[in-house]
Amino acid sequence: MTEKITILGTGPAGLTAAIYSARANLNPLVIEGLQAGGQLTLTSDVENYPGFSDGILGPDLMSNFRKQAERFGARFVFGDVIKVDLKQKPFKLYIEKENFETQTLILSTGASANLFGLPNEKRLIGKGVSTCATCDGFFFRGKEIAVAGGGDSACEEATFLTKFAAKVILIHRRDKLRASKIMQERVFKNPKIQILWDTVIEDVIGEKEVTGLKLKNIKTSKQDELKLAGVFVAIGHTPNTLLFRDQIAMDEKGYIKTFGGTKTSIPGVFAAGDVQDPVYRQAVTAAGTGCMAAIDTERFLESEHK
Ligand code: NAP
Repeated sequence: MTEKITILGTGPAGLTAAIYSARANLNPLVIEGLQAGGQLTLTSDVENYPGFSDGILGPDLMSNFRKQAERFGARFVFGDVIKVDLKQKPFKLYIEKENFETQTLILSTGASANLFGLPNEKRLIGKGVSTCATCDGFFFRGKEIAVAGGGDSACEEATFLTKFAAKVILIHRRDKLRASKIMQERVFKNPKIQILWDTVIEDVIGEKEVTGLKLKNIKTSKQDELKLAGVFVAIGHTPNTLLFRDQIAMDEKGYIKTFGGTKTSIPGVFAAGDVQDPVYRQAVTAAGTGCMAAIDTERFLESEHK
C-alpha cells in the first residue's frame, strides 16, 4: 500500500501536521522515532505556548498534541527510520524490517543539542552534564555550576539556573557574547553569574558524577581546574538530517532549505519545525510550520490528481 502522506517526527511540527492532515481526511501515517514528542519532552514548564495561561509541562503538552492527532485518525508507527529514498516516487522509508511507500512526506525530525565531544562528557550526561536547564536545574539547588556557550540559549539558561544554584559560571570561548542585548544585560546584571571569557573546557572531571572542569584560557594558554557540581552545555543545535543528506537541498549547517512556505527541493517533500529553522526554534513556530506543511501537502496532492 502506498501512503498518501507520511510524517517523520512527533514534536510540535510533526503532530500539528498530523492533526491538520487527519482532519483533512488524508489518513496520515506518523513515524515516531526514539525521542517521541521531541525536545519539549526534555523541558519542564512551558510558559510561552499560547493558550496555557498558567503554563503546562512539556511532556503533558506533547501528550495533548498526540491525543488530538489520534482523535482525528492519525496512525502512529514506532521505530527509527534507518534509510529513506527520495530519489524515486513513491518515496521509500525503511524501519528495521518494515518499509513504507508514500506519495508525500513531511520531514519534521527536529534538532538535537550539540555537545563538545570531550572524553568524559557523554559518560557524565545525567550525572552533572546536561543540555537542558529547565529539566535538570532543580537538582543543583544551592550548588555551584557552569553554563558553556555565549548565545541566547547559554544566557537564558544561566539566568534561569540562578533560581536554583548558589553561583553560575558562564564559560565562553571569546571575549564577547553572541546573545541578544537584552539577554546579555540580564546576565551582566545578575549578581549570581560570573563570566569566564576566552575560556574553553578541556574535559569534565568526575567518576560517578561531575566534580569539576578542566579549563584553558585561550589567550594566555593557562590551564585551570574548577570545582563544580554540574555543567550545562548550550552551544547550539544540529538538525536531525543525516538521513536525508545528499538527497535534498540543505544549508551549510544541515538545515533543510524551504522555499515559499514548507516546500523543499523535492516536489512532494515538505519540511516543518526545527529541522528547517535555525532562527526561531520555538514550539509555537514549529507548530505553525507543521500546519503550513499539512496545507502545502494537501494542495500538492490535489494538484497531482487534476
Ligand atoms: P548560537 O546562537 O549558535 O550560540 C552558540 C554559542 O555556543 C555561541 O556563543 C558559540 O560561540 C558557542 N559555541 C558553539 N560551538 C562551540 C564550541 N565547540 N566550543 C565552545 N563554544 C561553542 O546558539 P543558541 O544560543 O542555541 O541560539 C540559537 C538560536 O535560537 C539563536 O537564533 C537564538 O537567538 C535563538 N534563541 C532565542 C532565545 C530567546 O529569544 N528566548 C533563546 C534561546 C535561543 P561563538 O559565539 O564564539 O560562536
